[in-house]
Amino acid sequence: MSVDQVLMAESFVVHGRDEGGPFVLVSDHAGRAIPPELGDLGLSAQERARHIGWDIGIDGVGRKLADRLPAVLIEQVYSRLVIDCNRAPGHPTSIVQVTDGTTVPRNQNISAQDRTWREQTILHPYHARIRQELDAHVAAGRQTVVVALHSFTPSMHGKQRPWHAGLLHNHDSRLARIMIALLQKDGLVVGDNEPYALTDTSDYTIPVHGEQRELPHIEIEIRQDLIADDAGQTEWANRLARLLPQAWQQFCEQYGENA
Ligand SMILES: [Zn+2]
Repeated sequence: MSVDQVLMAESFVVHGRDEGGPFVLVSDHAGRAIPPELGDLGLSAQERARHIGWDIGIDGVGRKLADRLPAVLIEQVYSRLVIDCNRAPGHPTSIVQVTDGTTVPRNQNISAQDRTWREQTILHPYHARIRQELDAHVAAGRQTVVVALHSFTPSMHGKQRPWHAGLLHNHDSRLARIMIALLQKDGLVVGDNEPYALTDTSDYTIPVHGEQRELPHIEIEIRQDLIADDAGQTEWANRLARLLPQAWQQFCEQYGENA
């Protein structure tokens, strides 16, 4: 059984441990599994392994980071080609038909039943688990910071992307701006709403769990060639384990812990 056909009891895996810190890590695109009911989606193994199927390298970064902070990491195990957990249900790119030049045969003209099944099996349980974690933090009166981890492909439509990492933000940019400055101090080229901008509709996880709940949040994208191997993943996990607490401390000093 290959890595993308492993049978999961749940649509998510929880890594790391809670030792009272503020961070809750989430990773919408960490996995590349496909439910057996959907076969291989009509795609070759090479296509399924591309960046269109998952955020390459972010699984290693997330798990190491969860270990180092420490913090709980809720990681989606299914490929974004099955259903994109960073899109609202029913969004035009929730279940992509064509992505970066690749047509996904099993996603063409899918029935309402198929769509609902994917939402109920994969999307909703994952977000319910995130909500449960955040509810527990908030109910305990704890500081809570949602950290969404992503990675992006180094070149898109023939254009090289210069950023080492990018911070995506929209309604509350305070923590993102602090994190951008800290990463720049590390000598990195940091995208400010690059390579993507956070909007109410193009994203789902941070709008729902961060913005709507008014919880401080970070959405970070790391360039995939920097975290393709274990050494790169370790380097970035160490960097984020050092900078996230610094960013949060600065935030509290500037805005107060309950800002
Ligand atoms: Zn992603």
